[in-house]
Amino acid sequence: MIFQKPILIIGAGPVGLSLGLALGRAGIPAQVFEADAELNTQIRASTFHPPTLELFAQWGVVEEVIRHGYKVDRLQYWERDPRRVVADFDYSAIANDTPYPYRLQCPQHIATRVLKPAVEAAGIPMHMAHRLIDFTDDGDGVTARFETPDGPKTVQGAYLCGADGSHSTVRKQLGVGFQGKTYEDRFLLIGTDLQTGDLLPGAAQVCYIFDPREWVIILNLPDIVRIVFRMRDNEEESIALQEDNLRARVAGFFGPVPPFNIKTTQLYRVHQRVADSFKIGRVLLLGDAAHNNNPSGGMGMNSGIHDAANLAEKFTRLVQGEPDSVLDEYASQRREYAVQSVQLYTDQQYNNMVMEDEQARQARNDSLSGAASDPERARAYLLRASMLEDRIFS
Ligand SMILES: Cc1cc2nc3c(=O)[nH]c(=O)nc-3n(C[C@H](O)[C@H](O)[C@H](O)COP(=O)(O)OP(=O)(O)OC[C@H]3O[C@@H](n4cnc5c(N)ncnc54)[C@H](O)[C@@H]3O)c2cc1C
Repeated sequence: MIFQKPILIIGAGPVGLSLGLALGRAGIPAQVFEADAELNTQIRASTFHPPTLELFAQWGVVEEVIRHGYKVDRLQYWERDPRRVVADFDYSAIANDTPYPYRLQCPQHIATRVLKPAVEAAGIPMHMAHRLIDFTDDGDGVTARFETPDGPKTVQGAYLCGADGSHSTVRKQLGVGFQGKTYEDRFLLIGTDLQTGDLLPGAAQVCYIFDPREWVIILNLPDIVRIVFRMRDNEEESIALQEDNLRARVAGFFGPVPPFNIKTTQLYRVHQRVADSFKIGRVLLLGDAAHNNNPSGGMGMNSGIHDAANLAEKFTRLVQGEPDSVLDEYASQRREYAVQSVQLYTDQQYNNMVMEDEQARQARNDSLSGAASDPERARAYLLRASMLEDRIFS
């Protein structure tokens, strides 16, 4: 089947752009519609796992993304009090499993700026400042209405793909449930130019530091170090965000610190939710529109990009003559992956960070340090943490 009308992709985040790029390279007509006039610049994802880099290689953008990133070859878990390394995983353990045996730390808003021109070069029109208002699905195609600077616009398509983020208009209009939970914790991200390796001797570029009171995550990016703190329950947000208090929090963790700049701050809540269905009629959901999870571990955007790869492959099979039900396979495979893999892993990550019970903490630490010191277990651990173990692209 050759589509007479394009596939309409709603949202030019990393996921919508990935779908546009994959479809463009497969020669399948599509168009991308983004509500904002410019790509998002928010401080969000930074971790790109090996399977995502493998997809970027297929799509011809991997070198450019890597050029803007920082290759992290070790992953560490620490106890905050008393302070010590619990487990130190070396990515060389997965050197035979992928051409990219590391996690790349590259800001999402930089990666999307690599993807967008590639989407356009692949022949996929991008329509910025086009906010989806609503759509209809008449069984043979879809009609979408957009608000644009030139007034309302109506576009017809073969299918509509909602990659419009966690507040997805597409998901809401479909009336699809978004079950799950919101963690009580608030996460406070402080972006600095501190050299954390000097302040925490032995620290790798990525460290997760367990503490039931105030856990900490350190992520080194090319020109910034992100330090993420658990905000305590009784803290007032406006007070926590005052500069003196941000500095005091950093010093409270590292001890005396040299003068440093605060480049950015972000305070956010974290959800674990999955849409009840990823496909209704000719409308599909992917990325944050379909699933949200705790970002520590870096699986939200990555799994959204994997949704895009899976969906593009299903559209390719549809064009090659397979029935429309091939898209149901997308919906069930990716929903199962979100529920059975990403949600479980990221919830476990959260529980590990906040664990209070002394025996449970000891068991967690024994398990992690045992895995890190045994090459076969270290490989298995990193395959899981890198989303290589159970990926489903097709
Ligand atoms: C602090 C933080 C750190 C994170 N770290 C990681 C990490 O390291 N690794 C990881 O994998 N994930 C991480 N995540 C999660 C990651 O940022 C998201 O999973 C990712 O942005 C999802 O991409 P998306 O394209 O699905 O949605 P979004 O990035 O939200 O993009 C959706 C796009 O749709 C547009 N849009 C919305 N409504 C409409 C409409 N009606 N019409 C047209 N366009 C519309 C929006 O403007 C936006 O551009 C992190 C998140 C946060 C907050």
